[in-house]
Order: sequence, then C-alpha cells, then structure tokens
Amino acid sequence: MATLTFSAVHKRYPGGAHAVRGIDLSVADGEVVVLLGPSGCGKTTTLRLAAGLESPTAGEVRIGERVVNGVAPGERDVAMAMQGDALYPHLSVRQNLGFGLKMRGTPRAEIDRRVGEMAERLGVAALQDRRPEELSGGERRRVALGRALVRSPSVLLLDEPLSSLDGPLRTQLRAELATLLRESGTTTLYVTHDQAEAMTLADRLVVMDRGVVRQVGAPLEVYQRPANRFAATYVGSPAMNLVDGVVAAGRFVAGRFAWSVDASDGPLTLGARAEDLRLARDGEPAIGDGRLAIVEHLGHETLAHYDIGGAAAPWVVRLAAGAAVPETAPLGIAPGGVHLFASDETGERI
Ligand code: ATP
Repeated sequence: MATLTFSAVHKRYPGGAHAVRGIDLSVADGEVVVLLGPSGCGKTTTLRLAAGLESPTAGEVRIGERVVNGVAPGERDVAMAMQGDALYPHLSVRQNLGFGLKMRGTPRAEIDRRVGEMAERLGVAALQDRRPEELSGGERRRVALGRALVRSPSVLLLDEPLSSLDGPLRTQLRAELATLLRESGTTTLYVTHDQAEAMTLADRLVVMDRGVVRQVGAPLEVYQRPANRFAATYVGSPAMNLVDGVVAAGRFVAGRFAWSVDASDGPLTLGARAEDLRLARDGEPAIGDGRLAIVEHLGHETLAHYDIGGAAAPWVVRLAAGAAVPETAPLGIAPGGVHLFASDETGERI
C-alpha cells in the first residue's frame, strides 16, 4: 500500500499539446480517486504519468516517499487496466489471472491460492479453464480487472475499465467493483467520463478541464457545492441550469428572468439544479414564466424543459413521475437552491 502524489506536474507532448498543466493531487493510502472530465482534458495522460508510460516535463510524481519520475513502469509496483485491454487469447482464465504473478517469480502454490480467491470474488471461478474467446464481454472485463488486482499492487490505475460494457451489466459490474476496491484497500486512481461511475466509485472526485484540476472533493460535496461554473455543468445530470445576468440592488435580472439575490451589483451567472426548481403557486416568488419546450418522461421521474426569456437554453425542472406538466408555469427556486458564479472566464463560485 502507498500514497500517490503529483506535485506541480506538467506534461507537454513533443507535438506541442500541453495535456497536463500544473497538477497537484494526492491519492491517500487505500483511497479511490476518480478523474472526471471531458474528452481530451488530460485524464489518461495523468494516469500514464502515474504508470510510468509518460514522464513529466516538469514537477514530481511520487509513490510513497519515492520520486518515480524516471522509474520504468515495471519498477513502480503499479498495475494498470484499460478499456481496450485484451486478455492473452491462448491462455486460460486461470493462466491469464496468474500471468503477472508468474512473471514476478511468485511461488506456484501462492499463485494458485491468490488466483483462486480472485476468481471466486469476481464470480468467474467456474470458468477458469476456459479461454478468453469462450467468455462473454462482461466475464472478459472481470478477468481483466482481476489480472490487475490479483497482484496486490501498491497503486492500481484504471482507465475506463467498464466502457466496453453497457446496460445492466455495466451497472452491476460498477457496484461489484466499488465493493472490490473498498475491500482490497488498494490505492486507486480511476479515469472515466461517466458520471454514475465517478459518483459510485470515488472517495474523492477530481474534476479536470483542459489539463487543469478545477475541483477536488467528495462526490456529493462537488454536486452540492460546485466550486465553479465548469464543475456545475460537468457534474450532475441533467446539468445545472445557468443564466448570465446582472445584479442591481439585490435583484438579479436577465431578460424576463429575475430573482432576489444576496450579491453585490454587477454581472454574474445564476444557477439552480433541476430538483431545486418548482412550479410556483399563486403568490410565490417566481424567476419568470416558463413556456414548455420539451418533456422527458423517464419512468421514475419527469424532466420538463421550460423556456424563460433571458436564459440561452430552456431550464430543466425535475418533477415526480406522473406529475402534471403545465404548458406555461411560473417557476420558483427552492430555498438554498441558488448558486452564484463569477461571469468572467474563471466562473468561480461567489
Ligand atoms: P479521453 O477521455 O478522450 O480519453 P483524456 O482526458 O484522457 O481524453 P488525454 O488522452 O490525456 O485526454 O489527452 C490530453 C491531450 O493530449 C489531448 O489534447 C490529446 O490530443 C493530447 N495527447 C494525448 N496523447 C498524446 C500523444 N501521445 N502525443 C501528442 N498529444 C497527445
């Protein structure tokens, strides 16, 4: 077990892409940290820096107390599993699981014991004599994860390991993986752009944007109190509703959109989550009159999109399944549901 630390780490690729721009991040012993961000924000590069597949152009990567900047992948005691990982086609499940241990000269009896335990935990014990081509997609993913975990590495690096799966299987394996990572107590850095995966697996979430860390925190903390506009729109589905406007004398106004706020005069961005919006009753304060644009009946809930003059896009209101969805309605915001952000390019929370 070990900690993984990035101090002021930069990675500039020879071609010029400045993929990682001064990252400070620490994964504590046994912690699961998830890197979440849009395509191209530098998640995989950060993982590859930890693995030793890339070296930083500036800054330090440490595992425990040891600086590993120039240390080869095989000398770091890290294990990595990635989305496209192929199993060795000519080896059985048992041999695939034990391959890394065998390469390290682990005694045969210990390999058998550890592989047996891992196969049991992953629910592939009965399949150990099969070859990869005789497995389903989900079973193959389990074996690929098991191959990385069975080595009990100091640091486990996972890059979208579930992305080749979909539907119920993905949900199931996500829950299993959450349990497995907790139980194994392995220091883990996990890359995904899947919201649900990030929320389920992370002890702490790291929101990345264009090579920079925009927020670090427990998943719910990031959801409930996003540090900036980027985190507000990237974490949570549907994304937080936002509108750009101006505050004058305690009143935020954007076109036909208005709401009382506790902020000094000037431009800012006002946000509210779909579940914090209400169809306002007579006499209740409203941000404006919404005109229904789209309704999504999702079964367990209904998302109603209302146009309000002033906001660039319709605002999404989360309603109970089966609730009435009026064509026009005044919309209100629940107490504590307002988020304010600077309107400059930092978009920092106010
Ligand atoms: P995705 O979710 O699409 O996998 P990511 O967040 O993992 O994206 P990276 O793969 O880390 O992003 O890429 C970050 C940036 O670095 C991108 O602009 C990418 O084009 C660039 N990049 C990645 N690998 C290389 C490379 N080997 N050489 C040059 N540029 C690269």
